[in-house]
Amino acid sequence: MKVAVYPGTFDPITLGHLDIIRRGAHLVDKLVVGVTTNPSKEPMFSVEERLAMVKREVADISGHIEVVEFGSLLMDFAEQQGATAILRGLRAVADFEYEFQMAGMNQKLNDEIETVFLMADVSLQPIASKLVKEIARFGGCIDKFVTPAVAADVRGHLDGGSR
Ligand code: ADP
Repeated sequence: MKVAVYPGTFDPITLGHLDIIRRGAHLVDKLVVGVTTNPSKEPMFSVEERLAMVKREVADISGHIEVVEFGSLLMDFAEQQGATAILRGLRAVADFEYEFQMAGMNQKLNDEIETVFLMADVSLQPIASKLVKEIARFGGCIDKFVTPAVAADVRGHLDGGSR
């Protein structure tokens, strides 16, 4: 069984992420979406909230998809999950340098696990969680970037007065 891990912060999950998940799920027998607990990114949503959001959003995508939190080294998590590939999304040239370096170092850590890059649909490529949060904080409309349920989560969070 071919297993791949798609790791990320998903703070919040966007239409870009969902497109990569849809494409990735077609390529493998099982796609494990790894939601990082890494607090250094100071996420808007707790890991429990992000896990619940991702689970809800992938429920309608066909294929075998599991959503799992992880706080360990990515390559250790991938190995634990029995994965032979790490899936990453590439947006623009700006992503490339960081992704290139990370893929290279991960290759050194475990040469048995391949990093595979996918491109989201062209219309979804500019979407980034960070900008979605910024737009929402200034009262802008984020409906073109996330699902209606996620947009409601973000608005609910901001209305609640936290971060
Ligand atoms: P990280 O915190 O690891 O950057 P993110 O949650 O921001 O995690 O993103 C997870 C993965 O999804 C990364 O590989 C990122 O490049 C990719 N990604 C995010 N948004 C898009 C998009 N709009 N199109 C393609 N890939 C994307």
